[in-house]
Amino acid sequence: MSTTKYIFVTGGVSSSLGKGIIAASLAKLLQARGYRVTIQKLDPYINIDPGTLNPYEHGECYVTDDGAETDLDLGHYERFLNVPTSQANNVTTGRIYQSVIEKERRGEFLGKTVQVVPHITNEIKERIQILGKSGDYDIVITEIGGTVGDIESLPYIESVRQLKWELGNQNCLVIHLTLIPYLSAAGELKTKPTQHSVKTLMESGIQADILVCRTEHHLSEELRHKLALFCNVGKDAVIESIDASTIYDVPNLMLEEGLDKVTLQKLGLKDTGSPPLTAWNEFVKRHKNPRAHVTIGLIGKYVELQDSYKSILESFIHAGAANEVKVKVQSIHSEFLDASNVASQMQELDAVLVAPGFGERGIEGKVEAVRYARENKLPFLGICLGMQMAVIEYSRNVLGLKDANSTEMNENTAFPVIDLMEEQKTITDKGGTMRLGAWACELKDDSIVKDVYGVSNIEERHRHRFEYNNAYRTQLEAAGLKTTGINPQTNLVEIVEIEDHPWFVGVQYHPEYKSTVANPHSLFVSLVAAALNYSNNR
Ligand code: GLN
Repeated sequence: MSTTKYIFVTGGVSSSLGKGIIAASLAKLLQARGYRVTIQKLDPYINIDPGTLNPYEHGECYVTDDGAETDLDLGHYERFLNVPTSQANNVTTGRIYQSVIEKERRGEFLGKTVQVVPHITNEIKERIQILGKSGDYDIVITEIGGTVGDIESLPYIESVRQLKWELGNQNCLVIHLTLIPYLSAAGELKTKPTQHSVKTLMESGIQADILVCRTEHHLSEELRHKLALFCNVGKDAVIESIDASTIYDVPNLMLEEGLDKVTLQKLGLKDTGSPPLTAWNEFVKRHKNPRAHVTIGLIGKYVELQDSYKSILESFIHAGAANEVKVKVQSIHSEFLDASNVASQMQELDAVLVAPGFGERGIEGKVEAVRYARENKLPFLGICLGMQMAVIEYSRNVLGLKDANSTEMNENTAFPVIDLMEEQKTITDKGGTMRLGAWACELKDDSIVKDVYGVSNIEERHRHRFEYNNAYRTQLEAAGLKTTGINPQTNLVEIVEIEDHPWFVGVQYHPEYKSTVANPHSLFVSLVAAALNYSNNR
């Protein structure tokens, strides 16, 4: 008999209501009460993972320690809970079908017709319970992607219905997140779309236990009563989720509304008293009461879509709070940056971050941004492609290797200072084949990173195919581009720094994936401090 409790978060009326933030906020409150909680996301698309999706399509691809390429909501889970997630925390329809089809080929269903019910739904139920059965968690929160009523979500909803039946209502809870639209012409909040979406859920045999209602205006008692009556839930199970100025306010808003209380009650779990959110509240206070501000340029080619650089933007919020500084991130489109406008675009900046990315578009603008940061001693952090651009810029403009490049951009470059690893050269499949997940890195003494991390051995998460080409290392080092972090197993260069610069660091890995509220990433904290310093000395 399982003792793990399962909470499902479904969405109705509209997409983008913030199921991930609600799930993470509830998890935070339960964790603060002493429960061991994890969150899982089920995505109804056919891709095996979001690794092959364009950021415009899906936002950032988040990477876990075990090298899973996942939905960006897992980033919120880690940032809120400060507990690492893994491949088991993100399952797509593609992965479910792949696994069922592989089983069919192995003959595991010999003699049977393989069908959505029961084979696909059994696989889904198994994936949901893997985390629960690990014994590591008291509560598993599963967020179902998409909106109730979507064709592609149906097998997930049916699986939830079956689990509720199998494990019992005291072990399974469904939270339905909906939108209460405000009609300005009528001056009224409207409950009808919510009533309909709760009904749609009922057509699949699921009665929502708790309603979380996204709204721009407070819900009156009368409206709460109406929602409770017509959606068939208790009045204490109608939770208002008013628009917040920051996602980091949502746990406290949910606490005020009693979402954690009603959840514990319904699952028959002990109410251990009001959760101490001391450290969390300290962070929120610092975030909202900065003593100074800095402007940091984010040079990327997906800047039109904020979600593309989610973890970077959140890392700046954590690092800003740590420094009691407001970080204004100024997005600069690398595609439109060149030698003629780089100074005017960057002169107001106190630091610059050159973003990760793939492909040729916008890379010359990134190289120009690096050059500006190097020449003007502007604090610089290059992440992944950003680090590669720093190596290219140094090779071209300091070493004089004309047209040095990455073989990703120009296969025939005379100076392939960034190149494919040997192991990558024979790989043709695109999905899941990059250097992924946590890799060790040894830091050199007398470096910025050694100071910043305060230790000699670190582990950081990767997602890239191309690497610093060690054939150019002696030349580059002699010219002043130090390699200050090395992977001890492969001798791959993970970090470069410019000797003669106050704060210039390029990292082949992605520090932004590991920054959390409880543990702001030290590289970002240090970059913000360097930006403040730069701004004060202007
Ligand atoms: N496109 C580069 C590579 O594959 C960098 C990837 C990234 O920035 N995540 O190596």
